[in-house]
Amino acid sequence: MISNEQIIYLDNNATTQLDPAVLEEMLPFLTQYYGNPSSGYGFGAQVRQAINLARERLAALLGCEPGEIVFTSCGTESNNAAINSALQLDPGRQHVITTAVEHSATWRHCDLLSKKGNPVTVVGVDGEGNLDLEGLERAITPQTAIISVMWANNETGVLFPVEKIAEIARRKRVLFHTDAIQSVGKIPIRLADSTINSLSLSAHKLHGPKGVGALYLNKRSAFKPTLIGGSQENNRRAGTENVASIVALGKAAECAAAALAEEATRVRAMRDRFEAAMLAGVPDTFLNGDPAARLPNTSNLSFAGVDSGAALLMLDRQQLCCSAGSACRTGSIESSHVLRAMKVNDERARGSMRFSFGRFNTERDVDLALEIVPAVIARLRELSPAKTVRETVVA
Ligand SMILES: *Cc1c(COP(=O)(O)O)cnc(C)c1O
Repeated sequence: MISNEQIIYLDNNATTQLDPAVLEEMLPFLTQYYGNPSSGYGFGAQVRQAINLARERLAALLGCEPGEIVFTSCGTESNNAAINSALQLDPGRQHVITTAVEHSATWRHCDLLSKKGNPVTVVGVDGEGNLDLEGLERAITPQTAIISVMWANNETGVLFPVEKIAEIARRKRVLFHTDAIQSVGKIPIRLADSTINSLSLSAHKLHGPKGVGALYLNKRSAFKPTLIGGSQENNRRAGTENVASIVALGKAAECAAAALAEEATRVRAMRDRFEAAMLAGVPDTFLNGDPAARLPNTSNLSFAGVDSGAALLMLDRQQLCCSAGSACRTGSIESSHVLRAMKVNDERARGSMRFSFGRFNTERDVDLALEIVPAVIARLRELSPAKTVRETVVA
């Protein structure tokens, strides 16, 4: 096994390190407090109380009411459930609107729906990854059931104006869901003032454990569950609660709320120092995505003439973890659908790498990355006679 002390972990958009405070809080619920939260005796009730506390902590991070939180098994389940619910509400409204840059947890689902006969509109983005808002508004019809648009893009970090989209949706009386899995814990969110109907999040992207997430459901919005069975989660998600993980998500939310402002500044400074040095010091390097409307932790860079898969392997040998496109596609030769939607040319898409910073990164990680990454890029360019390609790309 590779120890975490040896690695330089710059892949916080793929998953994050469990915060030790979160581990400490969840452990007793895997050992001592094993009662079923639905049981009628005190040994169960104390577990129920722990779940309620987690719900309150998460609601505090989101600026919503605890009753508007439904715990799920992951971000993917939350995304699926939000769209499935909308399609169950009215048989006359089966149209779905989404974007060309969603995570596979949304776009594969929408792709499947489309194959099953649901009309699906996929709204595009411009060269900087910004959404075609007018196109989105034009796509709405009386048959539209739901609009699902991510808040922050996992590959580029580009932020979409979800509050604006929610307002458009409200005016047109269409439900609006947002995949906020990358933004929760990284940027301030206050759902009490918003017209967002539903929002997905996932614990492992904010220093919680893998395999637990939540769906925010606005109290005025109708909802039909996907999982049918017991009456857990106020009849919105059946199945005995994953107690330890829910407790952990609550603690992760509390930690995120306490650290948010300071952490965003510190993480942004590391990201910016890394990015500026790479753009200035490594020839033919380009930034993908809007430089301003972006998460503070993400840097998606293209190295012309470099194969990002090869770069990933060489960086891996030096224990540096980052991502070539989206982690889910590693091993596939297909270039990122996000960069393709941005019309980034094939050569640049092939050389794109995502570096994502987080709570447990240090300035030393940045120093090491600034030694290792430029050397790897230079070595790969030496190995392949890609000079002519680079010249073409720059032109
Ligand atoms: C990680 C991620 C998901 C999937 O969440 P899981 O909890 O791993 O299912 C969905 N959308 C975005 C934007 C993500 O970054």
